[in-house]
Formats: sequence, C-alpha cells, structure tokens
Amino acid sequence: MSKQINATNNVLALIGNTPLIALKKLTAEFAGEFYAKVEAFNPGHSAKDRIALHIIEEAERRVIIKEGDTIIETTSGNTGFSLAMISAIKGYKCILAVSSKSSADKIDMLKTMGAQVYVCPAHVSADDPRSYYQVAKRLHEETPGSVYINQYFNELNIDAHYKTTGPEIWNQTNGTITHLVACSGTGGTISGVSRFLKKQNPNIKVIGVDAYGSVLKKYHETREFDANEIYPYRIEGLGKNLIPTATDFDSIDEYIKVTDEDSAHTAREIARKEGLFVGYTSGAAFQAIKQLVDTEEFDKNSRVVVLFPDHGSRYMSKIYSDEWMEKQGFFDSEKETAKKSIAY
Ligand code: PMP
Repeated sequence: MSKQINATNNVLALIGNTPLIALKKLTAEFAGEFYAKVEAFNPGHSAKDRIALHIIEEAERRVIIKEGDTIIETTSGNTGFSLAMISAIKGYKCILAVSSKSSADKIDMLKTMGAQVYVCPAHVSADDPRSYYQVAKRLHEETPGSVYINQYFNELNIDAHYKTTGPEIWNQTNGTITHLVACSGTGGTISGVSRFLKKQNPNIKVIGVDAYGSVLKKYHETREFDANEIYPYRIEGLGKNLIPTATDFDSIDEYIKVTDEDSAHTAREIARKEGLFVGYTSGAAFQAIKQLVDTEEFDKNSRVVVLFPDHGSRYMSKIYSDEWMEKQGFFDSEKETAKKSIAY
C-alpha cells in the first residue's frame, strides 16, 4: 500500500480562513483590543480571491460557463490578479481591460498569470467606445460563454464576504467583536461582513474608510451624489467617483476619511511595529482607527477588528519606495522616523 501524500490539488482550497492577528504594539496606548484580519494570507495576496472564486463558482453552478470559456473584468488591481490566478487553475481564458494609467509591473503580473490584457486609453470618458468599461462590455457581448465580473455592480461581491469573511470574523472573535473598520471601494467587503455581523448582533458598529477626493462619505450622509467631492488622490482601491451598487450604505454606520500621506506613513508603521507587510489601504484602515481613538470612540471593553485588504509587495514602487515618498512631499512631515537608507 502506498503512503498518503499530504497535499492540496491547487491553491483554491487555501482561499479564505485568513488569520486574525492582535496589533499589540501599535495599540499599546489605546483603550480596547485591536485585531487585524490579514487578507494578504490568501494565495493571490488579497481579499479579492474570495469574490473572484465566489463569482466564478456561482457562474459554474448556474451553468453560465464551462472549461475553456472566458472571464472578463476591468481592473489592473487585486481583482484582476485573483481572476487570472483562478482562471489559470480552472482552465478559463481571462481577459482584463485596463487603463493605460496602470503600471507596467501590474500589467506584467496579470500576463504572467496567463491573462490577456487590453490596455485602453485612460483619458477618455467612461462611455467612450475606447474606455476600458466599454471594451470589456463589448468583448463580453461578442464572446459567447463569457462572464463579466462587474465587481462594482455585482451583488455576488457582497455575498462572497457575507458567506466567508463575516462568519470567519464572528467565529475568530467568539462573537465578542464590538467594532469593524474596513475600507470601502466597491463596498463588497464592508457590506457583506457588516450584514453578517449585524444579523448576529445589531449593536456591532461598522465604520467605513473613505479617501479625500471620493464621493462615498458624503453620499452616505446625504444620499446624494456630489461631484464637487471628486478630485485625484493616490490611494488605490479605496473610495470612488461613482456610487457602486455593491455597497449597502444602510449596513454602514459611519465613514471616516483619511489622507494619502497619513495612510502611507501608517502602512510603514505597521511593518515596523508589527512585522506585517501590508498594502496602502491597510495603512488607511489603521489610520482611521487612530483618528477614532482621538474621538474616544473606543473604551476598555472594545474589541475592534480592522480589515487589511492586501499585501505590501504590490506597493514597492509607491509607499515603500523612499524616492516615491520624497516625490510626494511625504518626507517633509516629521512623522516619518525610518527614513532613507544610509549611503556608506
Ligand atoms: N483595498 C484594496 C487594495 C482594494 O483593491 C480594494 C478593492 N477595490 C479595497 C481595499 C476595497 O475593498 P472593496 O472593494 O470590497 O470595498
């Protein structure tokens, strides 16, 4: 009899069940306990593995796609990478329409995972036939047996987190969580987790993190789209210039806005103090906690879970590059302690 091998067939089974890690050093002076749900432990290094797998498997269940068919989306970010990874494993073609603003590194990563990438001009309006939205839509219409993931407007995005991230956080805290702090981009993460947690305990407070230059916070407060809120900012994956239907605004109690500069410094601080190498929006999410501590939102009985969406390796040429930080003027502040390397 041959001996059993302890192996998984592929990385799909490793999606989800990410660890909850206590943030002891960062929060030593804060009232309450603080834990990070670290989504970089997913095989594709972000929370987007969850939605990519859920949406693809739902399409399989509904017999919309079969092996050899095509997955289509408009992103150069984490979702694109997760879709390319899962497509490679399951035998789908993966087409990603991305903006010409996307970095060469990102495009190379997607191609490495086997995706076909359409680079579309960045400076055209969303309804221009050359925009990445329109290119993706057209390819979807022209390709029989294709799925358009459409994460900003897909209820399955919320559903993925309702079914996985929410129950994981509830179980990992033994139902004692008092606050959730999570970034809001498509809104799928925060809405799905919030719906699940509030169903268990409606008193749990859910706080969304938004960027200056995004419409989400104002829309949450007024239910009106205010185009005056929109201006360019640097954090990627957080905030939006439109209102995504994948955000359930009623499930969110409050939004906090954070700046590019504070979020970058905080991401670097997370690495230095906790040894956790996470992305720009993880810095943004923890920056929101710092601002909430200043307003005395938490007390000694608080058990706060903050979601860290992705891994730091995707930001080497941005917040983890001293040159980039310098160029943004972020080293002008006195907050940064670990500055440049020492020329010897
Ligand atoms: N952080 C990063 C790095 C992201 O890519 C995203 C997704 N746009 C988010 C946060 C926000 O997650 P969600 O889309 O579920 O709101």
